[in-house]
Amino acid sequence: LDPVSFTNESKAVIDFIADYYENIEKYPVQSSVEPGYLSARFPDSVPYCPEPLEDILKDVNDCIIPGLTHWQSPNFFAYFQANASTAGFLGEMLCSGFNVVGFNWISSPAATELESIVLDWMGKLLKLPSSFLFAGTGGGVLHGSTCEAAVCVLAAARDKALKELGGWEHITKLVVYASDQTHFTFQKAAKLVGIPPSNFRLIETSFSTEFSMSPEMVRSAIEDDIKSGLVPLFLCATMGTTPTGAVDPIAELGKVTTEFKLWLHIDAAYAGSACICPELRHYLDGVELANSISMNPHKWFLTNMDCCCLWIKEPNLLTDSLTSDPEILRNKASKSRAVVDYKDWQIALSRRFRALKLWIVIRRHGLANLMYHIRSHIEMAKRFEAFVRKDERFELVVPRKFALVCFRLKPEAAAAEEEGGELNRKLVEAINSSGRALVSHAVAGGIYVIRCAIGTTLTQQHHVDALWKLIQEKAQALLINN
Ligand code: PLP
Repeated sequence: LDPVSFTNESKAVIDFIADYYENIEKYPVQSSVEPGYLSARFPDSVPYCPEPLEDILKDVNDCIIPGLTHWQSPNFFAYFQANASTAGFLGEMLCSGFNVVGFNWISSPAATELESIVLDWMGKLLKLPSSFLFAGTGGGVLHGSTCEAAVCVLAAARDKALKELGGWEHITKLVVYASDQTHFTFQKAAKLVGIPPSNFRLIETSFSTEFSMSPEMVRSAIEDDIKSGLVPLFLCATMGTTPTGAVDPIAELGKVTTEFKLWLHIDAAYAGSACICPELRHYLDGVELANSISMNPHKWFLTNMDCCCLWIKEPNLLTDSLTSDPEILRNKASKSRAVVDYKDWQIALSRRFRALKLWIVIRRHGLANLMYHIRSHIEMAKRFEAFVRKDERFELVVPRKFALVCFRLKPEAAAAEEEGGELNRKLVEAINSSGRALVSHAVAGGIYVIRCAIGTTLTQQHHVDALWKLIQEKAQALLINN
């Protein structure tokens, strides 16, 4: 890396990115390219000689940008947002700039130590009990995704149970519980650690509990499994489910998991960030009964992809499961056991210096601005919710808790269409194909729901107002033609 060409070329890329953000609202939010569009534009052969950066940036502009769905657009209201910020970007730059591989403490002490400090900071922002913090008796780690975190905690829970049961032959007895609203990543993770798919219990939810998991139903499922000779292992409770933002009753579920000695994990991937605001922290009440909790700052905490915080009360259970000790990595510090070797807290060996970006995000914004970030989205969501309420053709499907609004055209308005599902599907299609905004959908309690997730860094009130106008315009056209 030559510092002079690095400075010049990175300036060109930074200017390019700044220009992209300057113009981001001009692009259709959702890409409309056809599958395979890119291979038709690029040659099959690889270049033999180096190419100028200008040519490459021209191709990014002409060929790559048309194939992007613009997640950073202020008109992006789909899925859950992936926040970006200058602070997050600067952290990513430093991470790439140093490009260290902090698999154990000695391989880059600052990478490990900053990560431990930042996990304690973040844990304190969420008012986690000290049993989850290094300052107490637990600890935390940064993963790339909730899925990786889920695989690791499931492996820890599995190995603890198998040790107690007397060996691997008992793996087919282990049962994992979640709700039918739990992110599918937990089913994938359970399968990856060898839990038979038939031992994954999906507890049914309904409108009556606003799609939160019923502790009584969990208890009854556990009791049935015990009667059948199975071993209940793990329950995933979600704080802010993906389809509707539902919150499982952590304290009640915690009582059940404590009684039956299950591992309780809290998935707060999306809504965890909101708990830095005192008025929303109550959603995590009962967290002291959990064994582990994860949340994704890359969703709603101004931290560029990828960044998932995982805290665990008994880190030794994680390291018992994931430690490897090859000769090539042996060193005095690890042997002393006075350091954290994060390779033993994750799947891969190599790891990025992700802590830098979360550390810079927290320092550059401060708690005050981070809370403002969350609250402003919640205020905009309330405004959007009021728009839906006022228009008698629409209805809210579930009460809003965070900045996700779930709504639909009422079945009456949809007249002949089956339960309104088909018409709402057409409405989503009409909104998204306009290129002016992007929303997504879910099915909850058998009902097709339109999801409006307000949370990109650039979204302001006028974008929300424009979205509502667009929805009304497209709904009107569909209702007339219906
Ligand atoms: N859990 C919840 C509640 C989510 O909303 C998501 C993604 O949106 C995930 C887990 C998956 O997260 P990841 O992509 O980090 O694995």
